[in-house]
Amino acid sequence: MSKIEPQPGILDIAPYVGGKSHIEGVSNVTKLSSNENPFGPSPAAQEAVKRTLHELHRYPATDHAALRAAIADVHDLKADRIICGVGSDEILHLLCQAYAGPGDEVIHTEHGFAIYRIGALGAGATPVEVRERERVTDVDAILEACTERTKLVFIANPNNPTGTMIGMAEVERLAEGLPEQALLVLDGAYAEYVEGYDGGARLVHVRDNVFVTRTFSKLYGLGGMRVGWGYGTPEVIDVLGRIRGPFNLSAPALAAAEAAIRDTAYVEKCRAENTRLRAWLSDALAEHGVPCDTSTANFVLARFGSQDEAEACDLFLQKQGLIVRRVTSYGLPHGLRITVGDEPSCRRVAHNIGLFKAGER
Ligand SMILES: *Cc1c(COP(=O)(O)O)cnc(C)c1O
Repeated sequence: MSKIEPQPGILDIAPYVGGKSHIEGVSNVTKLSSNENPFGPSPAAQEAVKRTLHELHRYPATDHAALRAAIADVHDLKADRIICGVGSDEILHLLCQAYAGPGDEVIHTEHGFAIYRIGALGAGATPVEVRERERVTDVDAILEACTERTKLVFIANPNNPTGTMIGMAEVERLAEGLPEQALLVLDGAYAEYVEGYDGGARLVHVRDNVFVTRTFSKLYGLGGMRVGWGYGTPEVIDVLGRIRGPFNLSAPALAAAEAAIRDTAYVEKCRAENTRLRAWLSDALAEHGVPCDTSTANFVLARFGSQDEAEACDLFLQKQGLIVRRVTSYGLPHGLRITVGDEPSCRRVAHNIGLFKAGER
């Protein structure tokens, strides 16, 4: 037996499995499995990346000042309370590394994002799963699960893969009720899809136990660039800044994100299309006898009668070149998560689910 062993917790991590992007033997696939923006990034972001190509020998900025200023401008936030990371995933990991260790508990919800558990275990802490109420975050259940060892509470609002969210009054009640050593992390990966919602940033200004994460991977169409950010109190921003890699974000990534966030007309257009097509898709699925919860994000969670039916439908869709996301590992074996694509993709997936349901009868 080798004496070279990883830290406790690491081997309890089930490696993350992303959304599929290929089907054996099928070309021309439509990928609706990773909640990507079907329209891609803003053309301004693409141009900004091109302008960095002759400077690739230079190290990027370590303080991310230009990007933080752009985020602060567009969202009316304080630039010195922003930290940028390699996707919001990096920020989630930094939070675990900084605030949770052996003996500490990290709360996440039943159908919450996989990274919360991975981050907690990676830091040697104990992940604590709290049940949801009909696929919605349950504030009372979270408060009941808190102990003197609770250090972090992660909720995604809107949540992935359920698409549901809780209102600000509930979020505030949660923040108010937490034990004093616990930090509430509001993962706002899908916040941009909710008109007039700031992801909870205003709460950061009035409470010292709230932290918000955001990403450029979803609405901004920059998943391949890996840029996310966090918004917190000066104390938390200082702590995370000490462990963040100084050159974590590449120059092309910084340039793309800055241009993308400033292109507010493009953002508006993508948000409006998502809202329209999401409603169309969930209505179409309901007509075929497949219900979805009301989604506030860029995907819907289609619910089937059984795990067998969900699996059979997934295989049927794959034969037609449509890739959606199985969510069994999120405790939702009857579900298929379907990203809201462009209009032809939405029509195609709804049509084929209709054929599947008709064939079943
Ligand atoms: C997609 C997603 C993220 C974002 O991940 P990045 O690392 O920013 O690409 C974070 N949280 C949730 C719930 C997500 O679905």
